[in-house]
Amino acid sequence: MTDSRFLTHLSATLAEIDAAGLMKRERQIATAQGAHVQIAGRAMLNLCANNYLGLADDPRLIAAAGAAMESHGFGMASVRFICGTQDLHRQLEQRIAAFLGMEDSILFAACFDANGGLFEPLLGEEDAIVSDSLNHASIIDGIRLCKARRYRFQNGDMSDLETQVKAARDGGARFVMIATDGVFSMDGYLADLREIRCIADAYDCLTMVDDCHATGFMGPKGRGTPAHAGVRVDILTGTLGKALGGALGGYIAGPQPVIDLLRQRARPYLFSNALPPAVVGAALVALDIVETADGLRADLFRNAAHWRAGLAAAGFSLLPGEHPIVPVMIGDAPKAQAFARALDARGVMVSAFFHPVVPHGRARIRTQMNAKLSLQDLDFALEAFAAAGRETGVL
Ligand SMILES: *Cc1c(COP(=O)(O)O)cnc(C)c1O
Repeated sequence: MTDSRFLTHLSATLAEIDAAGLMKRERQIATAQGAHVQIAGRAMLNLCANNYLGLADDPRLIAAAGAAMESHGFGMASVRFICGTQDLHRQLEQRIAAFLGMEDSILFAACFDANGGLFEPLLGEEDAIVSDSLNHASIIDGIRLCKARRYRFQNGDMSDLETQVKAARDGGARFVMIATDGVFSMDGYLADLREIRCIADAYDCLTMVDDCHATGFMGPKGRGTPAHAGVRVDILTGTLGKALGGALGGYIAGPQPVIDLLRQRARPYLFSNALPPAVVGAALVALDIVETADGLRADLFRNAAHWRAGLAAAGFSLLPGEHPIVPVMIGDAPKAQAFARALDARGVMVSAFFHPVVPHGRARIRTQMNAKLSLQDLDFALEAFAAAGRETGVL
């Protein structure tokens, strides 16, 4: 029987979360993911999906998923190494590697697993990892699972990075790996990969970049932040769950021995099921679409520029940048929640972000652009933002 004191304790924690205005509540979408969705019978404009290229309901991906299910079945019922590898899995791994200009890649059930499984097999206690302070939770967890010494540098602070790399070298580390997000998803800031490359070269470090919020739309042909910055990185991780159709799945791409060793040792790879054929088949088509999607990328960045300019003209406080993540800074969490509710009432779906995903007092509405939003959609949303902003005291 469950200890009732235990459940009472959990209920008290939940009450604290709620009282602090930090409770996250999920809205149920009754349609496919897209720029326009239905929630509780109402048409809503969606400004908070990671659906940057609008591929989540693309008929070509739906058809490819169906065809892969017809030819390769529904599920794998196995991890990859026992009997869970189909020709499709290897095709996708090689396709991802070719797209990113890497030797090979390895699939995971999610990028959370890719980052969680990356560090421990590659680095040991003789080694060091130097990690940006705002790296994604999955990188932080992956580093925790690894025995390498840990150094942290302030977000985007290249002089602190150099200080920490020096400290790692002075500490006698055998291999040093610098780990960073390509794009910091709460702020929409890009990592300074050129400077990171320079420091890595000066101190003989490896570089690892998590490009979840970039692959498919940043850089030439959507090859991500390294291509955008014009630099080479050693290891790239990414997701199929954002711009590349938005289903699920993650990967690590890099040099052949890195991928080969991860296939032997990465725990989320060894002990978790293979991706289903539908997802793999559709991802192959998503990459074909992405490589020829200059038009979608142009629409996405046109939308981002229009949206930023409109919000700034209305008097909202924004963070500077060019990425399709456009955070509207509010400050305290209850106010951000009230603002999100006022937008909801006006038919605009956004999400308030507050502690613990951003620091206390830095609550915000993170808006995200999508290639399939029209300028009329954005102007409708700008009017709603202005009205909701006045109503809730944000403006
Ligand atoms: C979304 C995200 C992940 C997790 O990706 P999943 O495939 O959804 O597990 C990892 N890292 C970053 C930077 C992300 O934005």
